[in-house]
Amino acid sequence: MARTSLQCRECKKDYENGFKYICDECFGPLDVKYDFPAINKDTFSNREHSYWRYFELLPVESKSNIVSIDAGMTPLTKAENLGKKLGLNNLYIKNDSVNPTFSFKDRPAGVAVSKAKEFGLSAVGCASTGNLASATAAHAAKGGFPCHVFAPSNIEMAKIAQALSYGANYIAVDGTYDDANRIAAQIGDSKGIGIVNINMRSHYVEGSKTFSFEVAEQLDWKVPDQLIIPVGSGAMLNAICKGFEELQNVSLLDDVSNMHMIAAQPHGCAPIVDAFKKNSKEVIPVENPDTVAKS
Ligand SMILES: [Zn+2]
Repeated sequence: MARTSLQCRECKKDYENGFKYICDECFGPLDVKYDFPAINKDTFSNREHSYWRYFELLPVESKSNIVSIDAGMTPLTKAENLGKKLGLNNLYIKNDSVNPTFSFKDRPAGVAVSKAKEFGLSAVGCASTGNLASATAAHAAKGGFPCHVFAPSNIEMAKIAQALSYGANYIAVDGTYDDANRIAAQIGDSKGIGIVNINMRSHYVEGSKTFSFEVAEQLDWKVPDQLIIPVGSGAMLNAICKGFEELQNVSLLDDVSNMHMIAAQPHGCAPIVDAFKKNSKEVIPVENPDTVAKS
């Protein structure tokens, strides 16, 4: 009996877990739903030093399908000097730059590539010009998958050099990043290729939850008062929120409702922060971002 199923975020229709990400009825996105086993703090205590230690809370059914490059369990470092400067006694920084491909994308990409193996797909890929391409390519290399990176034809090669060094195949798309995304979606769906951030998205976002699991465990199963999260699309913030709620559901954490989640965006590109300040649910894309924080 499978531990997970898929559910439409909009109309709540349930589906068996499969290579599928959009609801047949309303075209809403599908989220992973779990039937969690009994878990306690000891479940994870003597496990591998990677985010796969939280296997029961992730959407892969069989451990034999895990494609791991030992990402996660990154340091939660107490920032004494910065904390003093800001007047905070307990300021911690989660350093995800020490993951194997140097970014937090090893979390979602690793879960998506593992799930692609479980689905029996023949290849994986992504639409990306940077960190995600590297993370996907590294996991593909480990899992023995061909990896196709879709990106605009005019990108600087330095941006995908790391992915190419892991053996990825670069598919240059004449157009913008949005065009590359659209073509990756079409080819992924028609050829049965697991595009991690598109047709594998339901499972991909689950990887980002492991950030919450690690922070909670590293704080000895306590909830931080305030959590500041850098936000692009908001996918990681959502996933982290889901992670803490799930720890509460399996009784590993007490009430998480007092925790404050803070979305941080750069001044020159802050559509979600702007919408929030205006108390609006409509996020208006910024046409010409003015920031060094490219992604
Ligand atoms: Zn639906």
